[in-house]
Amino acid sequence: MSVWSSWLEEQAAARDEAGLRRVLRPRPASDETIDLAGNDYLGLSRDPVVTAAAADAALMWGAGAGASRLVTGTLRLHETLEEELASYTGQPAALVLSTGYHANLALVTALADRNTLVVSDAHIHASLVDAVRLSRAELVVVPHNDVAAVRTALAASDKRTLVLAESVYSVLGDEAPLVELADACGQHGAMLVVDEAHGLGVHGPGLVHERGLAGLEHVVVTMTLSKSLGSQGGAVLGPAALIEHLVNKARPFIFDTALAPAPTAAALAALGVLRARPDLPAVVRRRVVELAAALGVEPPAGAVLSVPMPSPQVAVAAQATALEHGLRVGCFRPPSVPDGISRLRITVNAGVCHDDWERATEVLVAVVKEHA
Ligand code: PMP
Repeated sequence: MSVWSSWLEEQAAARDEAGLRRVLRPRPASDETIDLAGNDYLGLSRDPVVTAAAADAALMWGAGAGASRLVTGTLRLHETLEEELASYTGQPAALVLSTGYHANLALVTALADRNTLVVSDAHIHASLVDAVRLSRAELVVVPHNDVAAVRTALAASDKRTLVLAESVYSVLGDEAPLVELADACGQHGAMLVVDEAHGLGVHGPGLVHERGLAGLEHVVVTMTLSKSLGSQGGAVLGPAALIEHLVNKARPFIFDTALAPAPTAAALAALGVLRARPDLPAVVRRRVVELAAALGVEPPAGAVLSVPMPSPQVAVAAQATALEHGLRVGCFRPPSVPDGISRLRITVNAGVCHDDWERATEVLVAVVKEHA
């Protein structure tokens, strides 16, 4: 057996022993299962206006963009989406990339280098963690939502500094103290990077906008188009000078094929639906509050309900019981949970019809009662 084969076997055996083997389970195009595990918070990935826009764009522009944005990959569709995203979120400018992961990589690596300090919240998404590693910046990780610790780190350094936060954190669904963080950054000449992956849509134009921080020179936003907008892709939003810098310097933008026409058009159509239906975020909010009350947990800021489980094994069993009753929910276990506590992760979805939602609530109450 080769060195690599035996190493791979050892790795697999270690994962098995720790109960951490990840398995891909393809789902059918349509089934009876109610999906409360995905991040299609507003149900827009199945909206007929959105899917028709994707199909039309593929027919009109082709299946792929064909090249990177700086070669021949930039389509009028990308520019329109950038203008619309900026206008909807109250930002001066936007740049669309092929994923939210790329958006975070592009922004951080184009701004930070060995002479930069990055102050990162402990619960930050893997894409931002990887971005910092790639940038080679000095990193200080502060406890979750600890503004005093951010201030201490800012006061101790005279380097150009980025502070990283998510408006709504992806696993626990809680909110960052954005106003306080923006104040601290403003006072110390730092830039606040806010990942709105889970804030956009669930909070309409996002929490940065809701908190009156959109358009500030020292507050920059990243987002994915793959959650509330039901499509695929990512974006950075902020001052025009920053966007121009990214076009020139951000390797995950420059060396990556442009976002394909279909998801670009789908995201654009989803934004249109969101503008036309400002009630959608309120539907999510109402369901979040009702379900949190039914399950006996605090209502989160976003659409992610996180229900602690006594052990990884119980979390997996609870997830399986929910599935037996026709309900798909997420299950997060160490090392994927920032605080080491296993949980069911339930995402509220405004696209689930009233009857299914009632059924889902009943099943979840029973499952949590049985297992938690
Ligand atoms: N940031 C956060 C907070 C996320 O949750 C995700 C997706 N899980 C991403 C970035 C990456 O976005 P994408 O899936 O578009 O790459």
